[in-house]
Amino acid sequence: MMKFSIRTKLFLSHFLAIVFVSGSIGSFFFVSAMAQLTNSLQSRLKHSAALLAQSFDGSKLDNILASSGRNSADYQFYLNEIRDLAEANSDIAFIYVMQQDGSTVRFVLDSDIEAPATVGEIYNENISALQSGFSKLSVDKEITHDRWGSFMSGYAPIAGGTSPYLVGIDMRADTFANKLVDLRNKGIASLVLSIIFAYAFAHVLSRNMLSRIDNLHRRCASLAPLKENAVKNTGDELDHLSTAFNYLLDHMSQTQNELEQQVQHRTAELRDSHNKLEQEVSERRRMEVVLKECARTDYLTKLVNRREMTNRLQHAINIYKEYYIPFCVILVDVDRFKSINDEFGHDIGDQVLKDFSFSLKSLVREEDTVARWGGEEFLILMSDCEREAAVRQAEKIRLALNTRKFNCGDKPLIISASFGVAEYFPQHSLEFTLKQADLALLRAKQQGRNRVLMAELGYA
Ligand code: GH3
Ligand code: MG
Ligand code: MG
Repeated sequence: MMKFSIRTKLFLSHFLAIVFVSGSIGSFFFVSAMAQLTNSLQSRLKHSAALLAQSFDGSKLDNILASSGRNSADYQFYLNEIRDLAEANSDIAFIYVMQQDGSTVRFVLDSDIEAPATVGEIYNENISALQSGFSKLSVDKEITHDRWGSFMSGYAPIAGGTSPYLVGIDMRADTFANKLVDLRNKGIASLVLSIIFAYAFAHVLSRNMLSRIDNLHRRCASLAPLKENAVKNTGDELDHLSTAFNYLLDHMSQTQNELEQQVQHRTAELRDSHNKLEQEVSERRRMEVVLKECARTDYLTKLVNRREMTNRLQHAINIYKEYYIPFCVILVDVDRFKSINDEFGHDIGDQVLKDFSFSLKSLVREEDTVARWGGEEFLILMSDCEREAAVRQAEKIRLALNTRKFNCGDKPLIISASFGVAEYFPQHSLEFTLKQADLALLRAKQQGRNRVLMAELGYA
């Protein structure tokens, strides 16, 4: 089957529609105008014929026919009358009176001057309107054309159809025919114009609509370029557009899938990075805690170190100054530790130091602090405690430590330690207080070790 492009289909459909509509309207008006003109002519003919029929007397006409001559007075009278009437009305060509006798029709009167029909001349034409005219008013259905011109005839029976006569009027229809020709020419001209208009309109419309489809097609193709042979030579412009559009949809869905995959991949990467970052942050936090712990503890014994102990002592002084809560310091030194090292080695010495630290910590109260002050020397901060109580507490600790057995290689070892106790007084500095504890410790060593001595009262 032959395939038209959309442009052609659009053009043809609009062109034909406009031509059809304008042609129909034109034809309608043309036919209406013709009918109107014909009706008015027929109506005039009927009236004129009817009026004229009244002026004839059937019996006089009988006499004319009987005398068969022109010399009859009635004949001359009637002839003059119809000739005057025809002369007075330029659009009337002929007026005549006829008689019907069975199937024969003959002339009685004829207004024609040049070649009038003679009285009794038989008329051979079989005209149905004329035949009817003997009994009732009748008129030609259409204009007849002959060598004398265009005519339309009307017939009226004389004496209301009771006589065998009729009067006929041939009316010139040239003007009328000219009007019809003019009307037809105008109709043809407007049809030609409407064809030209239809052509231009259909052309512009189809081009306009197609340019949009072409634009759409071009845009689809620019977004997802098709292989040449995938579009050409198949179907019309809408088929091309539909192919390009479907291809674009496929292309978009493929791109969307690729994008989704990329997003998923990227999200997974981000999640991994996020997890790694979180791990790093928590590791750093842990390291921070460890570092902070290292900064304030002793690596071997895990006791508070000297710097942290100094801070806590300063805090205790602040508390004292604000709330008058007393505190004491006890300096503890392991007796003859050097000989342990010498006898068992430094590693065993380390282990003994760790065990000693652990024991020392377990012997003080919860609120007290034990620090490794240096080497085998420890400092105890006794909160909310005056020196007598501190001495008593130190004594308890000394005894407990001295009765405990420490592992020294494979044999148990009894260790002793010396204690120097000093209470803080606000008129003295921290250094002074610590010095007093150190002096007390020194005296304990001097007095034979394994004992607790309180700083001398004189410094208070
Ligand atoms: P004293 O009764 O007079 O205090 O005698 P001492 O031997 O305990 O005193 P001294 O000051 O002469 O010796 C202390 C020893 O402690 C010396 C040192 O080797 C040892 N020491 C200090 N720190 C450590 C340590 O961290 N580990 C080990 N194994 N030994 C240590
Ligand atoms: Mg010692
Ligand atoms: Mg020492």
